[in-house]
Amino acid sequence: MSAPPTPETIAAIATPPGIGGVGIVRISGSNVPGIARALLGCLPAARHASFARFRSADDSTLDEGLAIYFPAPHSFTGEHVLELHGHGGPVVLDLVLQAVLAHGARPARPGEFSERAFLNGKLDLTQAEAVADLIESASAEAARAALLSLQGAFSQRVQAINEQLIGLRLHIEAALDFPEEEIDLLADENLSHRAHQLTDQIDALRAATHQGQLLHDGMTVVLAGRPNAGKSSLLNALAQHDSAIVSPVPGTTRDILRERIQIDGLPLHVLDTAGLRESSDAIESEGVRRTHEAMRRANRVLLVIDDNEEEEDSVRALRAQLPGGVSITLVRNKIDRSGRAAGPVASKTEIPEIAISAQDGSGLDTLRAHLKECIGYQVAGEGTFSARRRHLDAIERARGHVDAALAQLAARRGELAAEELRQAQQALGEITGEFSSDDLLGRIFSSFCIGK
Ligand code: GDP
Repeated sequence: MSAPPTPETIAAIATPPGIGGVGIVRISGSNVPGIARALLGCLPAARHASFARFRSADDSTLDEGLAIYFPAPHSFTGEHVLELHGHGGPVVLDLVLQAVLAHGARPARPGEFSERAFLNGKLDLTQAEAVADLIESASAEAARAALLSLQGAFSQRVQAINEQLIGLRLHIEAALDFPEEEIDLLADENLSHRAHQLTDQIDALRAATHQGQLLHDGMTVVLAGRPNAGKSSLLNALAQHDSAIVSPVPGTTRDILRERIQIDGLPLHVLDTAGLRESSDAIESEGVRRTHEAMRRANRVLLVIDDNEEEEDSVRALRAQLPGGVSITLVRNKIDRSGRAAGPVASKTEIPEIAISAQDGSGLDTLRAHLKECIGYQVAGEGTFSARRRHLDAIERARGHVDAALAQLAARRGELAAEELRQAQQALGEITGEFSSDDLLGRIFSSFCIGK
């Protein structure tokens, strides 16, 4: 996990590709002062925006703009950092980057600036992940949650539980040092009270982390049903703009359309699929195969039917076409014509049913509320921080070890209880990066974009 003794100096374009008013090249590492002198003719004053000409190796001017120098350790990465704010065109930015590389930097890998910030103790792992979450956030709620994590709200809660774990472990280990009193110390009511308090706190953290993880990952929903049932119309109604091609000719949706929308901050990945029906058309059969694949991976399948056309038997036949083991909600569409009341329908099967009209929007609120309920999403409140699946996994492992520790305590096996608590502590340490393998770090940072 330790950084190489003198990490190479890295550089990348930090602004998104394309044309913009300003483009930024970011450089980090020990060679920054040398590169600044070669490129700008001098080292700019620390933390001041200085006007400068950016020069190529053969001394021609490539661009002009602002240069800001952040000497180590007071920078994002903890190393010397130079930011060159030039004009935001891809060619001119690339010319400046090439000049920086010619002066002794190498191109940064995705997430390498954040990785260095982590390795130099500027950010813990949840904070580094929160930087990526903030940049990628799909809703105002998700952005607010990412900022809280970046400010350390999540890490602090993990840390608070970790301290209690350590306290409990020390208490048990102290008892082990006095074999003659061990049994009494382990039977101490206060000890088991503290252990139970700890499990309550871990459960509360797990619930909060789950909300944060939902804000980050969202929910995947597949729209399935016969051609012309109104799947594309439903997608458009949920997205509140036209993304799918709505047409009265059956079988128009051949490929899978993906739409990212949100319900009260919960990102919803909606997949509109090829209609369910046997087809000799090779392209459409491939569409059906992909539909099944998507359904198996989704959190929920919305089986959309035309409420005017389907009888119980045909609905049963449609359900039989869906892969086994997927969670289904039956959506009865076009109630503006069938006259059924909007909202939940008393179902004769174990599958929930909701009546809607994609055309006039009735029943959509019930459908939205139903989706949130299915995944356990509560509207993001003030204290919601952003989190990821791996955090939730680590908390669940920690909880398992604390449970095991409680069982060992009850059986008066202090040594084993202490060992379980040590493992719980290790699992929580993975969240903030206190304990983490190079493998894990590689996986996390490689998913960031270049220049971050
Ligand atoms: P898909 O093939 O399942 O994607 O179906 P579409 O969304 O393309 O809709 C097929 C036809 O049904 C179109 O003519 C839509 O305008 C119509 N349609 C969709 N939803 C409704 C609805 O709620 N009420 C009525 N009356 N027509 C609808």
